[in-house]
Amino acid sequence: MVASTASAVHDTASAGQMLPDVDVCIVGAGPVGATLACRLAKEGITVAIIDRADLPPMEHPDFDGRAYAIAAGPKKLLEEAGVWEVLPLESCPIEDILVTDGRPGEPASSLFLEFTRDDASQPFGWMVEARALRVALNETLHTQPNLTVLAPAEATVERQADGATVRLHDGRTFRASVVVAADGRKSRLRSQAGIPLTKLSYGQTAIVCAIAHEFPHDNGALEHFLPAGPFAQLPMTGTESHPYLSAIVWSDKDGVAERFAALPDEVFAREIERRMGNTRLGKVTPVGRRWTYPLSAQYAQRYTDTRLLLVGDAAHGIHPIAGQGLNLGFRDIIALSDIMITAHAKGEDLGGPALLARYQARCRPANMLMLAATDTLDRLFSNNNPVIRLARDLGIAGVNRFPKLRKAFVRHAMGI
Ligand SMILES: Cc1cc2nc3c(=O)[nH]c(=O)nc-3n(C[C@H](O)[C@H](O)[C@H](O)COP(=O)(O)OP(=O)(O)OC[C@H]3O[C@@H](n4cnc5c(N)ncnc54)[C@H](O)[C@@H]3O)c2cc1C
Repeated sequence: MVASTASAVHDTASAGQMLPDVDVCIVGAGPVGATLACRLAKEGITVAIIDRADLPPMEHPDFDGRAYAIAAGPKKLLEEAGVWEVLPLESCPIEDILVTDGRPGEPASSLFLEFTRDDASQPFGWMVEARALRVALNETLHTQPNLTVLAPAEATVERQADGATVRLHDGRTFRASVVVAADGRKSRLRSQAGIPLTKLSYGQTAIVCAIAHEFPHDNGALEHFLPAGPFAQLPMTGTESHPYLSAIVWSDKDGVAERFAALPDEVFAREIERRMGNTRLGKVTPVGRRWTYPLSAQYAQRYTDTRLLLVGDAAHGIHPIAGQGLNLGFRDIIALSDIMITAHAKGEDLGGPALLARYQARCRPANMLMLAATDTLDRLFSNNNPVIRLARDLGIAGVNRFPKLRKAFVRHAMGI
């Protein structure tokens, strides 16, 4: 069994040199792989993490407007991994979420769903700038005693029943009990293991950017469903020049979204205001870069192979409608680190078939449910049929009338 990952090592390593063997080798130092590495190393498990990209350039020097909504369960994971405490910028708590339905340029339907501070004992989530998370991950990766960072580097992985041999392209080699594929949606380790992948396309592209606005957001988020796709406003911590700041994730039809994203600032701002469904933030001004992402969902048919585990986007990718993509990856890590830390304390093999099966059984069914839920939400709400619109508005308003149902939704989304 042979699997490989790509790139070159820019140091003075010599061919044939052996690096120390490790318990776990993680391929991919994105937010999911890097957090797993920090969490395991903190508990005395030896880890090597490989990324084909150099890590410091991932910390964009300027404000770039991309941010993650981190739920309560994943926040606790980041705290346990020692990452949360070194975030260079304050996160912004989400304390209210308004869910509405409408059409561009029109006020939202009068039937709505609102999650308020009374529905939960803590914020629904925390908005963390992508760049700030990267800075904190890089710092933590480099201060863990049991952790070796190999980046930029590429490796070839040979997996056998009793362990894996990892060969860097500069010739250095080491053994690992298990290899974790955290190498993103296009995971090479997943395809080399022959794990089938199912893909769903939405014909939608997301425009992601930051906006400054006239009035404060009061830590409130908006999910406004429009016929071409959902429009989300997520509160962010303000800066000196922009005290009232939010992130926008605006999904629209492929082709159309790219045209909107290329509009001059003034026209783009008016299009955003037309999609809010209300005027509570007042006049808006785009800040920083605009990003576009074609949207699709995908899932691996299984999360394991001999001495191999898939985590994060390598295992699943979902529609960003509920801002849960990274949270799902973090939930993989919560389960996997829990399983591995317990097994390590008992002196068990961290790459044995029983441990791998436990991980898949704990994560895959819940992830498939979330994928199905976000898929259904998008199909139900990206629809202009008047009968479907009325039915979903009544559904939204119905949930709003029952505090117990609202609280159940909140608990699930927060991962608690
Ligand atoms: C528009 C949009 C908005 C989103 N908003 C949210 C949100 O609000 N909240 C949320 O929870 N999620 C959100 N997501 C999802 C989130 O961005 C992803 O789920 C997350 O980035 C996945 O992290 P990862 O570490 O699994 O993979 P990645 O971030 O893709 O990292 C993979 C890493 O592997 C490395 N790599 C790849 N191939 C190799 C190789 N062969 N060898 C070595 N290294 C390799 C790459 O360099 C990279 O560093 C959003 C996504 C989109 C598209």
